[in-house]
Amino acid sequence: MGYVIPKNFLNLNKVLKTKYKEKYKGIRARTDSGSYWITTFGCQMNKADSERMAGILENLGYTKAEDEFNADLVLYNTCTIRDNAEQKVYSYLGKQAKRKHKLPELKLIIAGCLAQQEGESLLRKVPELDLVMGPQHVNNLGNLLERVDLGNQVVATEEIFISEDITNARRESSICGWVNIIYGCNERCSYCVVPSVRGREQSRYPGAIKDEIISLAKNNYKEITLLGQNIDAYGRDLPGHTMSGRELTTLTDLLYYIHDIEGIKRYRFATSHPRYFSKRLIQACYELDKVCEHFHIPFQSGNNEILRMMSRGYTIEKYKEIIDNIRILMPNASITADAIVAFPGETSKQFEDTLSLISEIGFDLVNTAAYSPRPNTPASKWGNQLPENIKKERLNELNEMVEKTSRERNKRYLNTKEKILIEGFNPKNPSQLMGRTRTNRLTFVEIPDLNQQINLISTELSQLIGRSPSQRLNFVGIPNNQQLNLIGTELNVRINKVRSFSLSGKICN
Ligand code: SAM
Ligand code: SF4
Repeated sequence: MGYVIPKNFLNLNKVLKTKYKEKYKGIRARTDSGSYWITTFGCQMNKADSERMAGILENLGYTKAEDEFNADLVLYNTCTIRDNAEQKVYSYLGKQAKRKHKLPELKLIIAGCLAQQEGESLLRKVPELDLVMGPQHVNNLGNLLERVDLGNQVVATEEIFISEDITNARRESSICGWVNIIYGCNERCSYCVVPSVRGREQSRYPGAIKDEIISLAKNNYKEITLLGQNIDAYGRDLPGHTMSGRELTTLTDLLYYIHDIEGIKRYRFATSHPRYFSKRLIQACYELDKVCEHFHIPFQSGNNEILRMMSRGYTIEKYKEIIDNIRILMPNASITADAIVAFPGETSKQFEDTLSLISEIGFDLVNTAAYSPRPNTPASKWGNQLPENIKKERLNELNEMVEKTSRERNKRYLNTKEKILIEGFNPKNPSQLMGRTRTNRLTFVEIPDLNQQINLISTELSQLIGRSPSQRLNFVGIPNNQQLNLIGTELNVRINKVRSFSLSGKICN
C-alpha cells in the first residue's frame, strides 16, 4: 500500500531570520563550490544528519576536504547533551574563526543541538559564523547556503515540519545505513535537553521510509538501523487507528512493512524507551528473521525514586519484565543501555542499586555518563546537585562494573559459530576482516590462507581470498564464476577470542 505525503507537509517552512553581514559585505561565495569538512559530535542521529548534509553539499558540487584547516566550508554538527560536548565545539570554532579573518570566503556553519539551543546568540559569541541551523533544518541546507551566498548571516532555528529528504545522503559505510524514522521527542525527562533542541515528535511516513530503504538496497546496503530519540513512539503522530483503538502505524507495523525488502539482510532500531516498549514489538522481533536480537533500552538508574525524579515513567520492575520477556523468546539477545550517575540527590545506596541492576541483568554494554546540568531543564535548577568528586568516583566505579559485566557476557561467544556481516577490513590490521554479530558485537575475522582447504561458507561466498608473496590481498574467483567479494556477505565464523568489547574468530562451515 502506498502512503501519500500531504503537499503542505513539504512546504511549511517558516521564513528564516537573516541578517546582513556588514563586515563581509560585497564578498561573494566562490562560484565553484570548493571543498567541505564536517565534524560530528554526539549521537547516531547527529551522524545520520551529517551524512544527509554531506549528500546535499556533494550535490551542490562540493568535494570532501582532506583536512579541516584547508576546507572552503566547515560545518560543525553539534551536541549539547552534556556540558563537555558543548565546550569542545567552542574550542573548534575559535580556531576556524581565526582562519576566517585571513580567509573571509571561508563558510563557517554550526548545525545541530547547540545551534538550536543558542540560536542567534551564537552570532554574538562567534560573529564569523555564516549559518546557525537547528537539527530540523538539515534537509534545507541547500536553500540556507543560497542565502549565505547572497551575503547574509543566517539563523535557522524555528520549529518546522521537517521536509522529506530528496538528496541521497553521503554515507560513511557502504554496507550499513542509518534511516531516521522519527525526529524530536515528546518526553520530558527532567535532565534532558533533547526535547527543547530537537522539537516535537515528527514521524516520517512509512512509504517514504520504505522508498529510502529500497534505494539503499539497490546500492548494495545490507543492514539498516532505524533511528529515533524515542523510537517506540514512532507513528503516534500519524493519522489513523485500528478497530481496537490502537495507532494504525507503530514501530512494530513498520518492521513488518519493510521486512520483505530484497537485499536487506538485517534490521536494527534505536533508541528504545522502557515506557513504550511493547510485547507486540518483542513478538515481531522474534518472528521477523531479519530483525537482529539486539535491544538498546536505556534504564538510566536502578532506583525507583531516582527514576521518578527523572520523570522516566516506568519502574525497575517494569524494566526487568521487558528484559525477561525478550529473553524468553530470544535467550541470547544482547541488551545494551544508557545510565546516568550522580543525578541530583542520588544517595550512595541509590547509586548501588544501579550497580546491582547492571550485574543482575548482565548487560552486554552500558553507555555511562555523570549527570550534567543542562540549560532549561528542571533538574538543573534543583539545590541538591552533587559535587564533581562524587560524580567522578561513581562514574569510575560504574565503568569498572560495566567492563566486568561485558567481559563476562562475551564469554558466552567462545567457540560458538556466529554469522558475521562483513563491513570491511580492520583499519588497525588490514589482514583481518571486520564485521558484527547479529547481536552487534564487533568481530575481527582472520582472512583465510589460500593454501588452507576452505569450503563454501555461504551460498553467497563466491571467492576465495588470499595473499600474494608481496602480501597484496587477492580475491580469487571460485568455479561458479560469480564475482562477489566478501564485504557485505554474512560469513560463518568460529569465535576463538573474546575481549570486553570485541571478538575474534576464523571462518568455518
Ligand atoms: N532517548 C533516549 C532515552 O530515553 O534513553 C536517550 C537519548 S539521549 C540523546 C542519550 C543519553 O544521554 C541518555 O540516555 C542519557 O543517558 C544521556 N544524557 C541525557 N541527558 C544527560 C545529562 N543531562 N547528563 C548526563 N547524561 C545525559
Ligand atoms: Fe531525552 Fe527522555 Fe527524550 Fe530520551 S526520552 S531524548 S532522555 S527527553
